[in-house]
Amino acid sequence: MPEGALLTLAAREPTGPRPALNHLSAHADGRQVWAALGAAGRLTGVYRDGNPAAGVEPAALGRLMADVDARVGIGSTLSVCVQIATAVPLLALGGQPAGRALVEALAGTSVIALAATDEGSGTDLAGLGTTVTIDDENITVTGTKRWITNATQADHFLVLARHREGRHFTNFTWVLVPAGSAGVSVEAADTALFDGSGTGHVRLDRVRLSREHLVGRVGRGMTSFASHIAVERLTGTLWAVALCTRMLAQTKQRLEERRFGDGTLWQLESVQQRFAACLVRTHQLRALVDRLADRVARSYDTTAAALLKASAALTVDGVLAECAQLQGAEGFAGAGAQWTRAQAALWGIGGGTTEVVLSTVAGASDSLLAELSP
Ligand SMILES: Cc1cc2nc3c(=O)[nH]c(=O)nc-3n(C[C@H](O)[C@H](O)[C@H](O)COP(=O)(O)OP(=O)(O)OC[C@H]3O[C@@H](n4cnc5c(N)ncnc54)[C@H](O)[C@@H]3O)c2cc1C
Repeated sequence: MPEGALLTLAAREPTGPRPALNHLSAHADGRQVWAALGAAGRLTGVYRDGNPAAGVEPAALGRLMADVDARVGIGSTLSVCVQIATAVPLLALGGQPAGRALVEALAGTSVIALAATDEGSGTDLAGLGTTVTIDDENITVTGTKRWITNATQADHFLVLARHREGRHFTNFTWVLVPAGSAGVSVEAADTALFDGSGTGHVRLDRVRLSREHLVGRVGRGMTSFASHIAVERLTGTLWAVALCTRMLAQTKQRLEERRFGDGTLWQLESVQQRFAACLVRTHQLRALVDRLADRVARSYDTTAAALLKASAALTVDGVLAECAQLQGAEGFAGAGAQWTRAQAALWGIGGGTTEVVLSTVAGASDSLLAELSP
């Protein structure tokens, strides 16, 4: 990205209190939320010096995720999460169409989807089948990506493809595919759980582009994915703290209003204890992210990110299940706590399943045990 463009965007970042998203409808989709954040200068504000290549500022990122979570649905927040943490910083790896897309994305005028998960393999990323063939002037991309956030509302797909057979980590490369290219077709995912996220499946049928659509160096795709997915795991954890806090506050209000005997449900000691246990878990997650955020943001520490992701998934699962139970039948109302709980199962799948991040944690057992020494 040209330095001048960065400075122009950074100059738009307001000082003082940050503008809220209050003018947005609670039903705004991810593209609308992204546009509002860009117009308010809040997207550049989450990166150090306003530069996505320099990494995220966890405090600003946490505020942004909490603001978006408070205003719109989980699908639309997911749309922001994937872009801000992964897709946009990856554009900074280089290539000129990528540079232009980056400037537009930060302004909120362009939406970028990150397309890694393949039709034939998800968790097993090195088994992905999407190919890119590269000649002196052109490239051709073929394959199918499934369950891609922003698929139906993206201007560009940042596609992880293999340029060489085999599982070696140097066999993968990023390609920026404009959504309007010949050979691209998109189908919305068959679920209402993530409305606003534009989640869908992307078919790339011999998409021919000029070579400058390669993003970053050939063979560096998997390495840069590993670094940037760590930031997505941090972002998801900051969002998890915001979501648990919001759901606990809503549940407490309901318990205080719901009559029981001469008082309310909130006055039952057993109810308060269950609620308190959730508050403890949420504070534990907050303490963990406070301790590890800089390690992920500054060094792309994948072990710290795995610890955060595993912890976030387990916390969200437990806290939201308890909130839903404490809301009784009302929890089953449209967009009620039971619906939110189903949506939040995403923390155990998207961006790496809980099993996969627990394997990373297990692999680092010795150093993690050493960290616990007094
Ligand atoms: C709403 C949503 C949005 C998404 N957005 C994106 C996106 O923007 N970009 C993108 O590239 N992808 C995206 N994904 C895909 C997501 O990253 C994958 O779903 C995830 O990586 C898991 O892959 P999979 O679904 O193919 O699971 P599979 O590989 O089919 O695994 C199924 C299950 O098997 C078990 N399992 C798998 N591997 C192991 C293991 N090693 N050890 C133990 N158990 C295991 C786990 O229980 C796992 O859940 C999204 C998914 C969802 C649901």
